[in-house]
Amino acid sequence: MPMVGARVSVPLGKQTCVGLVLAVEALATDTEHTFALKPVGEILDTTPLPDAHWLELLEWAARYYQHPIGEVLFSALPVALRSSKPLSKRMQKRLAATPVVAQTPPPSSLALTMEQQHCLQTIQQWQRVDTPRPVLLHGITGSGKTEIYLRLIAPLLADGKQVLVIVPEIGLTPQLLARFQQFFADTYIVCLHSALSDGERLQAWLEARNGKARIIIGTRSAVFTPAPQLGLIIVDEEHDSSLKQQEGFRYHGRDLAVKRAQMLNIPILLGTATPSLESLYNVQTGRYHHTLLKQRPGAARPPGLQIQDSRPFTLDAGLSPPSLQAIRTTLARSEQVMVFLNRRGFAPALFCPSCGWQASCQHCSVNMTWHARRNRLVCHHCGAEQATPSQCPSCHNPKLTTQGQGTERVELALQTLFPHFPVVRIDRDSTSRKGELADKLATVRSNEPLVLVGTQMLAKGHDFPNLTLVIILDIDHSLLSNDYRALEKLGQLLVQVAGRAGRADKPGQVILQTSQPEHPLLHQLVGHGYTPFARQLLEERKRWHFPPYGYHALIRASAGTMEKALKLLDHISHLLANSDNNLQRLGPIPAPLEKKANRYRAQLLVGGKQRATLHNALRQLLAHENKLPGRSSVRWSIDIDPVDLT
Ligand code: ADP
Ligand code: ZN
Ligand code: ZN
Repeated sequence: MPMVGARVSVPLGKQTCVGLVLAVEALATDTEHTFALKPVGEILDTTPLPDAHWLELLEWAARYYQHPIGEVLFSALPVALRSSKPLSKRMQKRLAATPVVAQTPPPSSLALTMEQQHCLQTIQQWQRVDTPRPVLLHGITGSGKTEIYLRLIAPLLADGKQVLVIVPEIGLTPQLLARFQQFFADTYIVCLHSALSDGERLQAWLEARNGKARIIIGTRSAVFTPAPQLGLIIVDEEHDSSLKQQEGFRYHGRDLAVKRAQMLNIPILLGTATPSLESLYNVQTGRYHHTLLKQRPGAARPPGLQIQDSRPFTLDAGLSPPSLQAIRTTLARSEQVMVFLNRRGFAPALFCPSCGWQASCQHCSVNMTWHARRNRLVCHHCGAEQATPSQCPSCHNPKLTTQGQGTERVELALQTLFPHFPVVRIDRDSTSRKGELADKLATVRSNEPLVLVGTQMLAKGHDFPNLTLVIILDIDHSLLSNDYRALEKLGQLLVQVAGRAGRADKPGQVILQTSQPEHPLLHQLVGHGYTPFARQLLEERKRWHFPPYGYHALIRASAGTMEKALKLLDHISHLLANSDNNLQRLGPIPAPLEKKANRYRAQLLVGGKQRATLHNALRQLLAHENKLPGRSSVRWSIDIDPVDLT
């Protein structure tokens, strides 16, 4: 008899597939089946791989995100367990539970500030009750949230519990991991990140499963790590959109973490300097507790944020003369500068000034970005690359021009303007080799005066004590976007980037260059801070019954022509209206990125005031999936609680 949670091989047509046993039931001999049942092939595991709670969580997730359970289970299993290869003897041994060794809390080297102490005690009080509510720890950047995490974890380890810590991107925040390893020097910590090999990942998974790993740190998929003695979950940077999986099984790591904690009845802490509107709303309605850290330890003060109208100036690689002057004086004081620009490459457009030709991607509805270093044109959406033409392909004009700027151009301009100082660029192109990012971060942490240029890779978690000036470029498109989440994301990004300045004992300054200096929400953010800004956004969401005051699902379709994609969505829209005519339906419309990798994309946003009614309508739709016209040539998907509306 196979056990629940064991893998089996199953014949499917001419193939043999791997299955995970979800239930074992005796078949009544008189039951009629709509399809022929076949016996399972081989039983691959003699010990169940995951525990019952793990299966329960994934079954819940499959129902909630309306995604096939098989794909959900497989995406949550390490790659090495998705095959029909039985575990090696060595790995099998790892499945056996290891005895729990209680860890004595480490002596604390840092004295907590009064504010931190108060915050820690409050959280611990909240967590001691029978049914703990999630806690939102809202602490400004640099307020010492990590220190709170460490001290919440210590007593749990002493109790023999495991702790799960979910972070947006580990590669970008090696400091966080280092602090955990230093603080818990005698504790077995596993770190799940994308650079692990399949074997390493399997080992980490098994060690979490058998209880040897006491602290598990990982990105969003770590929420699926089995941990039989789990006693606390921490989600760091809970607002971060990379916690949402954007393809296939589109789950939200934070939301599933909250669900998992609720199922296990254990505490969960969501930490951030810029809470998501969802979490703020949950605080307003009393579902979450809320605690604030308003100060930075020691002498560190939050930076002053200043809006600069860039319209009167002639810009040099996007930088205004006052910004360049500010860079000059900062470097003269032997301090560091960061120029933030969320676009890699040299220039986002290459065109011909005489006939108007533009280098656009053949497969997508976008311009290609010119990368000067490699002298190639690259599509940032499908990855297509080509050599830069030496003349205009349409009128043979040899003088092509670029427009706009990316990090490469800013880097070059700064090198020319400030030849006596290093310019360090950090983006996906400049950090692709192993160790490159760590080297660059080490250079910055040496505290010598320099200019750092980079994309959002710089926004997260880094602590640069000698960085005192941040210049933010090119945010205008977000201010003007019609994606209702764009302003929330922009506000979070600005506060996070600004938070890199003035971390130690030196005051920081942040200059926000924009051609939209009168934008009311920008003023709200700069003048009054993130919370009033977020409250105002919440008011607007409320007026439209948009999340978190309502529930959304985004139905995406793509096909060889736009017409086919729109037609299918139109049909779906009618079906949804028939099953519940109170549903809000926005669209179908062509997606903001109309064509990607040769497929035309369209979308339909569906909203409901109640979650249950929306989800029921979607369930009915899926039940009719086989009858949808044209479905053979159109790919479509449902994204529950969408975060990215492109
Ligand atoms: P956050 O995660 O809130 O951005 P961190 O936990 O990274 O903040 O702390 C920011 C900096 O302040 C770190 O360098 C950290 O070592 C330091 N720090 C935190 N708590 C204290 C404290 N009580 N006393 C002195 N320094 C502290
Ligand atoms: Zn031309
Ligand atoms: Zn493309």
